[in-house]
Amino acid sequence: MQRGLAHNTASRYRLAPGTARTFQLPAMPDFHPLAPPAFRPTCELCREAGGALVFQSAQWRVIRAEEAAFPAFYRVVWRAHVAEWSDLSLAEQATMMGVVGTVERVLREALAPTKINLASLGNVVPHLHWHVIARFDWDSHFPAPVWAAPAREVVPAPVTRLRTSLPELDARVARAVAALGPAA
Ligand SMILES: [Zn+2]
Repeated sequence: MQRGLAHNTASRYRLAPGTARTFQLPAMPDFHPLAPPAFRPTCELCREAGGALVFQSAQWRVIRAEEAAFPAFYRVVWRAHVAEWSDLSLAEQATMMGVVGTVERVLREALAPTKINLASLGNVVPHLHWHVIARFDWDSHFPAPVWAAPAREVVPAPVTRLRTSLPELDARVARAVAALGPAA
């Protein structure tokens, strides 16, 4: 997997025939960068969504990382450029953790994963974000972290093993986090 955030940032979904009526995607604005000083021109997560944009509020956004080995891999990104968790106020930390917990809950309900992994590293892209990753005992790295060396090859593709399609999963995540704050 890629270690940076150089993902395909196209956030539009391509639906399989016949699936379009099974769920409703909330209307989402396109990603737009913040103005300075919240914006750092050298920072990838300031310039780009960093994955498939699922929902964006005034303070945070939820993206899906688009990692083939880990299809249910979401990130909660603080929109203003800060590097460290303690750069946020306690109230902001509570807001962000509320989003992280909500994404986790949806992944548990929709996918029944073996485990949820939460992580905030930022060594490669030092812009505050939390990883929320549904892990399965069959995935390529389990029980090691997703950043470790793979332990096995997974065939057929991981995405085909999920009990919920990615567009439907995105829609469920978007609906759940939308209840925490309005779209921006
Ligand atoms: Zn940034």
